[in-house]
Order: sequence, then structure tokens, then C-alpha cells
Amino acid sequence: MTALVDSHCHLQSDRFAADLDLVVGGARVAGVERILVPGWDEASCAGALAVVERFPWIDAAVGVHPHDAATVDDDGWARVVSLARDERVVAVGETGLDFDRVFSPIAAQLANLRRNLTLAAETGKPAILHCRSAAGRRDAQDTLVDELRRAGFDDAGAAPFGGRPPAVVHSFSGPVDFARAVLDMGLAISFSGLAFRAGEEASAEVAAAVPRDRLLVETDSPFLSPPGTPRKRNEPEWVRVTAAWVAEVRGEVVEGIGTGLVATYDAIFPRAGGLTRQPRRG
Ligand SMILES: [Zn+2]
Repeated sequence: MTALVDSHCHLQSDRFAADLDLVVGGARVAGVERILVPGWDEASCAGALAVVERFPWIDAAVGVHPHDAATVDDDGWARVVSLARDERVVAVGETGLDFDRVFSPIAAQLANLRRNLTLAAETGKPAILHCRSAAGRRDAQDTLVDELRRAGFDDAGAAPFGGRPPAVVHSFSGPVDFARAVLDMGLAISFSGLAFRAGEEASAEVAAAVPRDRLLVETDSPFLSPPGTPRKRNEPEWVRVTAAWVAEVRGEVVEGIGTGLVATYDAIFPRAGGLTRQPRRG
């Protein structure tokens, strides 16, 4: 069976409260061997670790989403920082910029992004970056590149990350030259069901060009269902649709992509010593 990863999946969402065991079981049956659950605010970061308590093979990330940038106060942030030091937390995020919906003012988004990037550098855990502009625009992508340079993430060999990607652009959206800029900085790129939507046509060219060791796929569940899957709630098993698409645009077979995805995931998100990801087969 093709081994898959879901590098971004919000299993701590209320939408999974009633049937999380079934959802996680369905993912395993579909061949999903790695799942990363990112937080978006204080409560959801604690929730990500609660998911890992139940399913020790799943990974957590903690950070503050641009939508929540203005609502997480200093006490909330201090709690996120302390959770980031938990050895079961493999990344800082999700954070980033959202100039499409602008649920938090842009100044607050920038301040939030900066402290999340600092936390990533301090912990040596890659940042998970959300980046969306309004339709037909690219101001969030351009600003993100500026901010990454400002944070010193223009050196692919940055010491705290030991040669690993210092960040992942999740749920890729944007022009091809944005992808080139972040790849040049050593970042990884993850594709979701967003790649299938109108206005995201550049994603196929990007997915074909990302080096294998910096290529990931995700669902962003419960959001962004890919075509042919239930619209009302995305689930990690549907990562296979996006993985098949990535394989197709790269002219590769999905089995090859799958083996690569697990190796890439493990290289980007190493676990602290002694913590293994026990794949439950069969
Ligand atoms: Zn997300």
C-alpha cells in the first residue's frame, strides 16, 4: 500500500469530537503513516497535545494563526511558548499571514508572525506558514518573503535547524516565483485540496518543481476537501487525492511519491530522542 502523510490536519477541531477514533482509523486504513496536528490559538495548541495523548504516533505543532493574531494575549502566548518546548511538539505553527480574510489587523499579524518565527529559531523546530492573499493578489506572499529574510531564514543551512527546512509553506497558494523564493531559502512546500481550486493554477507547475526532499502533502482537515470527497468535512484519508495529483503532475507513480513523503516528513519533523512513531500496520 502507498505510504502517505498528512502534514497538516486539525484533528483537535470540534468537528472531530464525536468520531475521532473512526477518522484516525480510516486514515490508517488508507495508508496514512504520519499526521501532524497544528494549533491555531492557545486552546487548540493544548488540544493538539491532547490528540497526541490519545494517539502517540501523531505529532503536534503549536503556534498562533494569523486569524487569531489579535486575540491571543501575552498570557496566551506564554502558554504557547511553554507548550512549544514539549518534546512531542515537532513544529511551530500554524502561523503566517492572511491578507484575504484579514480576521486580525495586518499589524497584529506581522507582530504575531515575528514572534512565532523567533520561537521556531529558538526551539529549532520548523515554522508552519499559512499564506493567503485576496484573489488575484500576491501581497501576503511578498510580505512573507520579506519577513522570512528579516528573520534570517535566507540561509538554508541555518544552525538551529541543522540543514533541515526552517519552515514549511503549508496549503500552498501563490505564484511560481513565490515558490522559487521560498525554496531558495531552504523551505519546504505542502499541497492541499486548495491546489484544485480556481485561481490556484500555478500550483501544478510548483508541485512539479519542488525537490522531493522538500515536498509534502496535507488535507488541512476539516477544511479544503479535494474533488470527489465529502465537502462538509475533510478527513486525513483524503490526502490520497492530493498525493495522486502531485504524483501525476510530476510524472511519477503515487507509490514512489508515498515512500518519499514519509522519508521527507521524518527528515523535516524529527522526533526528540526516544520518541518513536510506531506505525500500526494491518
Ligand atoms: Zn490549518
